[in-house]
This record gives sequence, structure tokens and C-alpha cells, in this order.
Amino acid sequence: MSERYDVVVVGLGGLGSAACHSLAASGLSVVGLERFGPVHDLGASHGESRGVWQAYFMGPEYVPYLRRAYTLWSELEAVSGERLFHRTGGLCVGPAKGTLVPAARRSAEQCGLEHEYLSAEDVRARFPHFTPDEECAAVYDPGSGFVQPEQTVRVQLDLARKHSAELRFGERVHEVTETAGGVRVRTDRGTYEAGHAVLTAGCWTPELLPALGVPVQVLRKVMLWFEPEGGAQEFQPGRFPYWIWEGDGMVGYGHPAANGLHGGVKAGVHSGGTPADPDQVDRFVRPEEIEEIQRFLRGRIPALGRGRYRRSAVCLYDNTPDQAFIIGPVSDHGRIVTASGTSGHAFKFVPAIGESLRELVTQGAASQDLSLFSPERSTTR
Ligand SMILES: Cc1cc2nc3c(=O)[nH]c(=O)nc-3n(C[C@H](O)[C@H](O)[C@H](O)COP(=O)(O)OP(=O)(O)OC[C@H]3O[C@@H](n4cnc5c(N)ncnc54)[C@H](O)[C@@H]3O)c2cc1C
Repeated sequence: MSERYDVVVVGLGGLGSAACHSLAASGLSVVGLERFGPVHDLGASHGESRGVWQAYFMGPEYVPYLRRAYTLWSELEAVSGERLFHRTGGLCVGPAKGTLVPAARRSAEQCGLEHEYLSAEDVRARFPHFTPDEECAAVYDPGSGFVQPEQTVRVQLDLARKHSAELRFGERVHEVTETAGGVRVRTDRGTYEAGHAVLTAGCWTPELLPALGVPVQVLRKVMLWFEPEGGAQEFQPGRFPYWIWEGDGMVGYGHPAANGLHGGVKAGVHSGGTPADPDQVDRFVRPEEIEEIQRFLRGRIPALGRGRYRRSAVCLYDNTPDQAFIIGPVSDHGRIVTASGTSGHAFKFVPAIGESLRELVTQGAASQDLSLFSPERSTTR
């Protein structure tokens, strides 16, 4: 027997929970389907913290969407009554003539964002844990910080439920097709008929959309937590910024201690990664992976690089060739839309992407300019 809804949302991670919330709050009948449980650690939306910036190292073209996301993070905090966005300030460090710092500076200057451009000496004086070489510079974004992915997903699912969305866990979607008057979604438990489908299945989206024009590569990524030498006191939010650092042909990043004095301080490598099948990911973190980030940290944030390894977790990136997301309609009549291919940097946009997905369903177009993320774009650049 099939059931009829306005919208079926496939995948209830960061983006799917945002879409469910936005769609249900607008009065539509929504069913959300998730193959695992609520707020799980098998996809891309776990690991306690996600960095949020406006002086964005991905370039100024992302800034208008980030501005919208900032507004919607505040609205999400207001409607949920929970603090979601921890503003700690953010430091983008690297060679002054490298890739990251000039891009962050361009975003800040072209978009008129509050920021400071710092020399290596400035950074060492202001943030004594950081020891950049003379060739380095930094962009400090005072509005940057972090959000907590598990909390965000939980809050969005709760709000979606409050607006009468039906959320079904442990139900795997096998096929989504456009029909004459809508869509049909076949799962391991039954069939759903709906006006529209929103596919937010993260790393599994290519399985459901094999004809997607933009290729997606799934990468295994590691997050690690360290106990800094001398203790975590100086690494608490408010004292220690969110950071990202280009150096030695890599891009490393880290967050302040998101989980109190004893939860450890997180660091990871944004660049690279091992191609993976999302259903058979090796979740064991090897000593050489720990050593790689410790080596990166030792010359840059020595107290962290010499710190004691505490724990780690494996997470997944779904990378597109240009690292821009895929957002838009993906069927002949636009009744199936996706937000996927998020390339390891979409959490900061989560509520804005939820809003765009709602607009694509209800109006056939989004109020933000999403041309950068078109499913039809050429990704040869
Ligand atoms: C290590 C790491 C660090 C990151 N750091 C940052 C950062 O600092 N800042 C930032 O902005 N972003 C960051 N990101 C990126 C960000 O977390 C992701 O872009 C975002 O979480 C992607 O959300 P999603 O909803 O697409 O995927 P997911 O949260 O994985 O959700 C997809 C969901 O679909 C479900 N699903 C899949 N297939 C099916 C099916 N067939 N049927 C039913 N359900 C299905 C899955 O179970 C899953 O729950 C990071 C990512 C990682 C891995």
C-alpha cells in the first residue's frame, strides 16, 4: 500500500533534518526517511563541532549564502531555545602568497566583512599557542565559531516533528522516480507517493541518483582529539579560536575544546582523504594517521602537537571536482531535488540549504543564487 504526502525527504542528517524542518514549518505534509537511527555517526554529521565562517577561504561567491545562514542560525536558536552557534573567532593561517589566506582576505574585502589581516608576528603575539613562520599571514574573522552537528540535527528533527512531520528511522530507500503527477519512493518497507522528493542522502546520494551529472567521490576522513600539553584551559571557547591552516601541501584545521576541560581538543586534515565505499568504511584509525596530524601541529600549535592523543572518529566527505555543493532539481519535471556533494564544508550552511530546498519544492526556484551549485554545471574547472 502506498502513502501520499506533499514531500518525502530521503536522509535525515544535517541537510535532510533542515529540509524537514523548513518544509514542515511551512505547513506541508512531510515524511522523512532515514536508514539508520536519529543522530548517528555513520555519515557526515557527527564529531561535536563544525567550523563556521563568513570571511570564507572558498571565495567571495559563497558569502551571500553564508550571510543568510547566519541569520537562519539565529532564528533556529530563537525557535529552539538552544544555543547552537558558539562565536569563538576564527583564524585562517597560511603562506601570504598561498591559496587559503588570499582567498579568505578576498572574501572579507570584497564583501565588506569585519576582519583583521595579521602578520605572522601579530598572530604569535595575539594567539601565543600559534607559531607561524615569517612567510605566513592570517585572516581573523571575529564572527566565526562552531556549531555542534549532533545537537543541530536533533533540534531540527524535533522542530520538524513539532510541525507534524512524520520521521521514520531504520527505513532504507531503494528507488526514487518521477511519475506523471509527482514522485514514487520505494523503500525496504513499502512505497510512498508524494508531490516532491528531496534527496539529502549525503555520501549515498549517487546510489539513488546514478545519472547525476556532477561526479561525487566519497572520502574517508579522520577527526582526532588531543589533550594539550599544559592542559585544556587555554583551549576553551573564547580563549582559543577555530582555525584552518595551509602548510606542507596540506590543509589542517582545529576547533576549541567543544566539550569542556576533559573532552580533548579537536584537529583534522581537510585536504586529501582515502576513497571509500560508504557501506564499508574502515573505522579503525591507524597510528600513522595520528602521527600525520601531530607532525603538522608540532611546528604550528606545539602545545597541541605534543599533546596526548585521546580519541578519534571517522567521518565521510562527498567531494565534487570543484568542491561546490550540488543543489537543485535533478528530474525532468523538477519534482526531485537534491542537496548533496557537500565536499566537507556544508554544515555552516545547513539552515540556509534547508530553506533553499523548501523554496525549490514550493516555488520551483530559490531566493538565493544557487548557480554555483547547479547539478547541470560543468565541473572541469
Ligand atoms: C570530518 C569532517 C569535518 C567537517 N568539518 C566541517 C566544518 O568544519 N564546517 C562545515 O561547514 N562543514 C564541515 N564538514 C562537512 C559537513 O559536516 C557536511 O557537509 C554535512 O554534515 C553533510 O550533511 P548531509 O546531510 O549531506 O550528510 P549526512 O549527515 O551524512 O546525511 C545523509 C543521511 O542520509 C541517510 N541515507 C543515506 N542513504 C539513505 C537511503 N538510501 N535511505 C534512507 N536514508 C539514507 C544517511 O544515513 C544519513 O543520515 C565536515 C565533514 C566531516 C566529515
